[in-house]
Amino acid sequence: MKKLAEVLRDWEAVIGLEVHTELTALETKMFCNCRLSHDDEPNTNVCPVCLGMPGALPVPNEKAIESIVMAGLATNCEIQRHSMFYRKHYFYPDMAKNFQTTQGPVAFCMHGRLDLEVSGAGAAERPDATVEKNEDGSYVAPIRILRIHMEEDAAKMVHVGGEEGRITAATESLIDYNRCGTPLIELVTEPDLRTPEEARLFMEKLRQTFLTLGISDCSLENGSMRCDGNISLRRRGSTEFGTKTEMKNINSFKSLHDALEYEICRQAEVLEEGGIVYQETRHWEPSRRRTVVMRVKETADDYRLFPDPDLAPFDLTDEFVERCRARIPELPDAKRDRYMADFGLKRADAAQLAGDPAVAAFFEQALSAAGEKGAETVAKVMVNLVPSYDALTPAQVASLSGLLAEDAITFAQAREVLDAVNGTSEDPAAYVDAHGMRQSTDEGALGAIVDEVLARCTDQVQQYRDGNKKVLGFLVGQCMKAAKGSGNPKAFNKMLAERLEA
Ligand SMILES: [Zn+2]
Repeated sequence: MKKLAEVLRDWEAVIGLEVHTELTALETKMFCNCRLSHDDEPNTNVCPVCLGMPGALPVPNEKAIESIVMAGLATNCEIQRHSMFYRKHYFYPDMAKNFQTTQGPVAFCMHGRLDLEVSGAGAAERPDATVEKNEDGSYVAPIRILRIHMEEDAAKMVHVGGEEGRITAATESLIDYNRCGTPLIELVTEPDLRTPEEARLFMEKLRQTFLTLGISDCSLENGSMRCDGNISLRRRGSTEFGTKTEMKNINSFKSLHDALEYEICRQAEVLEEGGIVYQETRHWEPSRRRTVVMRVKETADDYRLFPDPDLAPFDLTDEFVERCRARIPELPDAKRDRYMADFGLKRADAAQLAGDPAVAAFFEQALSAAGEKGAETVAKVMVNLVPSYDALTPAQVASLSGLLAEDAITFAQAREVLDAVNGTSEDPAAYVDAHGMRQSTDEGALGAIVDEVLARCTDQVQQYRDGNKKVLGFLVGQCMKAAKGSGNPKAFNKMLAERLEA
């Protein structure tokens, strides 16, 4: 098969995503008071409502409606004041009611948008002129969101025995209804994504947004966030849609990228050989790095969708929507802009700190421990050093930043200090003092060393005065050696330059 970059020169990929997110932050299910928990013994958090017993009546979970409205507001959706729940009928043991309660043509949230910032190698994947690119090749891709609707999750099924990957007569199927009735929001994008990287960035941004809202733990590995992709190809310049395939079993950002990359290249090969892309559902096999057919769709499914007579239509009030809006914390984009303005951070660095709410909270704790003065140093330490360590505390980062800010240690020493204190409760300042690492910036003591070095290295001094400024590095090295490592290189640099220029 051809490589992705080559394929995307001739073909335009049209990608849409459907993202299911369980509202794991809630305490109870969507239509009953059963506890939400994945860790309990199977089939213990169940009742007549979520088991679909005849005559049991559902009661909507108001907190779930608040969560979806917050999700809609955070993704620039129009909140629909009037909507209702529908029954989507199908027969499968994971839904004992034989229908899923979901939303119909009008969802709580319609017509939203998320802007993606694409840069670096990922930006080169999109060669077309349909987006405006900056000088460095980066661009902003506006991705429209068709809708976000509310529904309930099905039970979890586990198949044991039989043939690997296939259900046979020898397979035993186990069902855990604890998950049945879990509040689930489904977000559907318009087919606006054009590259695997854009799809990955969209999922990442959506995850950051939902994490910031605190409505879900958004774990792709554990399945609380799940993603299906629709993909078709068309010749560059064409505006008609090709036949799309649907991709299932995507449980990591990498899988999403790799599955789409594979599928784009596969479809291009089929089309270039004069073949036909069938409308089918395909399964991503990460171990073999390919997609395989799960089922071919010949007709549209008929779910006999109709309004649920047990649930009254919703009329959301202005007060309700405003209450949801007031609960939305500062979102990653706004946080990024604030970090850029307040700490002079580069856009990419600010985005790195603002994206993950846990990282942002850590950063802000370190800032308040360091005090106003050290803000820029804390930001630099967070971007350049902290990502290499897994067990630092905000107080340690604040202390280390203080040492750097007052030139008491060098950047190289900072790594040494963090290697030592990571995972302990030791204060970096105490460590530096205990190991005699604190560097002197005392003008008098350092000045004597500088004068001694200048008197000794007459050749280099002459070279410097003849215009070879690089020799300054050598002289700093001589000073450091004379000070046995306890002098600050920046201070030496400054004092040497002053004396040489005088
Ligand atoms: Zn229940």
